[in-house]
Amino acid sequence: MAEIGERELARLEGIKRTVKGFLNLNPIQRGGILTPEARKAVGEWADGYSLCDFCDGVLESIKKPPIDEFVHETLPRFIDADEVRLTHGAREAKYMVMHAICKPGSTIVADSNAHYSTHVAAERNKLLIVEVENNNYPEYRVDVEKYAERIEEVKEKTGKPPSLAVITFPDGNYGNLPDAKRVGDICSEYGVPLLINAAYAIGRMPVSLRDLGADFVVGSGHKSMASSGPIGILGLRGDLSEQVLRKSSEYKNKEVEMLGCGPRGLPLITLMASFPAVYERVKHWEGEVENARFFIKKIEEINGIQQLGIKPTEHDLNFLETNVFYEISKKHKKGRFFLYRELKKRDIIGVKPGLTKNFKISTYEFNKDELKKIIDAFKEIAMLK
Ligand SMILES: *Cc1c(COP(=O)(O)O)cnc(C)c1O
Repeated sequence: MAEIGERELARLEGIKRTVKGFLNLNPIQRGGILTPEARKAVGEWADGYSLCDFCDGVLESIKKPPIDEFVHETLPRFIDADEVRLTHGAREAKYMVMHAICKPGSTIVADSNAHYSTHVAAERNKLLIVEVENNNYPEYRVDVEKYAERIEEVKEKTGKPPSLAVITFPDGNYGNLPDAKRVGDICSEYGVPLLINAAYAIGRMPVSLRDLGADFVVGSGHKSMASSGPIGILGLRGDLSEQVLRKSSEYKNKEVEMLGCGPRGLPLITLMASFPAVYERVKHWEGEVENARFFIKKIEEINGIQQLGIKPTEHDLNFLETNVFYEISKKHKKGRFFLYRELKKRDIIGVKPGLTKNFKISTYEFNKDELKKIIDAFKEIAMLK
């Protein structure tokens, strides 16, 4: 072991986080804020392998705490899936499905609003991606009918249908919610398995794998289910499940694609502790959409701010084009960092330092007073010269 300096070690001792008391607009963080119940569980369950006391070799069969029921009953009902598995994130779930059902060198079809992790998961599996394009600025709408064209194209070019189709529901840039059910119909017609990437949906809004007519759906616990994570959920339906959940020939109770076990400890404990509240909040999704629309309406009263993506918005995540802030940044003595500083002065964070032209925000779980405070802050800052 080489020596590690005292100053280097001291830097690890004082790790602090400064979000308390701030309104955080960062979309990736709003749905992952722990519930009080989960926060309470943290102290007790934070040790490594804390939930493995009563494990007989299969994480999902643990009865105390009730993981067995949670994974085999509660979650499958929550998303109308036949089976659910927990992974270390939405990306790991995508990787796992691709690895199980797509041959290396084969082609998959995905929307052009797909998250980068869809591309990286495909790359790691040595898959090629053919994209279903969006209609670009300002809507970035994916025309789901084009899935049929792309599938035909792949068949013609490679002699085989795509080994998988992926649709992002909603995408992580514009919060556009494509007609995933229609993609499900098209894919069934062609016999192409479909995976729905619902990282920004499961835990925020109602999602039914059965109603969407897909084979797989993935979600993200730390993004949308009030879990510390990292944890993802994979919902499976139909014949292809067996291939994804096949067991090791040598270790009879271990699933190969899971590498034998899923997330253990705090990621799962906080997911379970938050679940009753998450189940409840999903029922109030309409209110979240209303709040997002209220916010967008007010913010667009400012000259030089507009929401991109499909309008009116259908999701709490929204992409703002903010030319007014860009113009100010050209003359402001703090330059492009002015917006971050001005927002922080008003107890608002979550817009990356240096961004002024455009950025993403989420209004998830803010109340009306908090929304008004944010709107007023934007209005004040837009008056700066
Ligand atoms: C955040 C996000 C992911 C990644 O989720 P992880 O659980 O961190 O892997 C994947 N897809 C979309 C659309 C996302 O927004």
